[in-house]
Amino acid sequence: MSGEEVSRSPGTTLDVVRRQNLTQVLRLAHRDGPISRAELTRATGLNRSTVGGLVSELRARGLVEESEPHPTRKVGRPSPMVVAADDTVAIAVNPEIDAVDVGIVSLGGRVIRRVRYKNERIPTPTEFVNIVSAIVDGMRPELDASYRTLGMGLAVPGLVRREDGRVLLAPHLGWREAPVSAILAKVTGMPVVAGNDASCGVVAESVFGAARGVDVVVYLNGGASGIGGGIAQGGTLLMGAGGYAGEYGHTLVESAGAACHCGAIGCLETEVRRDALLRAVGLNDADVDRLPAALALAWREPDSAGAREVRRQVAYLGIALRNIVNGLNPRRVVLGGFLATLLKVVGEAGIASHLGVALPGARYDVGFVAATLGQDVLLVGAAEMVFAPVLEDPTLMPLELEPATV
Ligand SMILES: [Zn+2]
Repeated sequence: MSGEEVSRSPGTTLDVVRRQNLTQVLRLAHRDGPISRAELTRATGLNRSTVGGLVSELRARGLVEESEPHPTRKVGRPSPMVVAADDTVAIAVNPEIDAVDVGIVSLGGRVIRRVRYKNERIPTPTEFVNIVSAIVDGMRPELDASYRTLGMGLAVPGLVRREDGRVLLAPHLGWREAPVSAILAKVTGMPVVAGNDASCGVVAESVFGAARGVDVVVYLNGGASGIGGGIAQGGTLLMGAGGYAGEYGHTLVESAGAACHCGAIGCLETEVRRDALLRAVGLNDADVDRLPAALALAWREPDSAGAREVRRQVAYLGIALRNIVNGLNPRRVVLGGFLATLLKVVGEAGIASHLGVALPGARYDVGFVAATLGQDVLLVGAAEMVFAPVLEDPTLMPLELEPATV
């Protein structure tokens, strides 16, 4: 082993402990910031000067910033507030059938800028790469002048292989075996990671949204092209062996149901569909924004086509949820997109009543809530994939300054 290799080895126990402490402080600033040094001291159980040293090192690595004391805290010695650095960013990308969204997302989970490229037709993988690289080229002066860019994250509506970000199948985009991550890495010169869109969603909602601080979370999102799902425990994604866990859109809910594009019949996403809800209240795909109000109105008339369709879909959703609740014992199920609309129309009790005879233990542990991050959710989740290695080991970021002495 050469000397250089020795210096890159995990190091002494003291180094390991320090790295773990840096990770703990960075994660708190990332998820809960702005947070005072006093709160960091309480949350970590470390002493005040140790926390001061860790904050100073994270600042020197460009990962946190300190602001003025919180104006509402008038009692006691004011403590400066620690936040994840706003100028450390990821490029987040979400290809969809109608548009490609590209955002600059800060380490604290804020979407700083968002560019939406409206597709005239569904982009091929090559067209997608061209669209993204053109948008990133346009952002380049701003990125170079103001930000430290750690890489690019893609939230893809499909099956993405964990090890290399290859898109094995994105059925609604018509992509098969598409190495878009590798090509984008080559074209942009940035590290690129990719994951399933709903997996990005569950991480974003776990870290910043409706399931913040919740231990076991399942996220189901209903969009134009179907239903995606993700599972997280303690803010970390449960990926499965190859990265494909959480495909609840293809769980069986109707054994005499319609054929699904996946080859099976009676999948959740063939029975629970946004277009069927739109049709039931006389709307079309362009009227998605009006769907919540139209369904709420229809729900007041139990015999209306809208109310009947809501009852039919909630019953099927209940079958899928019963399997999820019995199989995973989640604390919270977060529903996004038009599934959040269904939840708001029938209420949490309306969803829970369709769980049927889910076993009592798991059934009493679970709550159903609507997603809260709205249109930012997938970009925030895609950026989290980029930030994950640095959140795991902040010393991956070079020291840009000498840490201040405390
Ligand atoms: Zn299916």
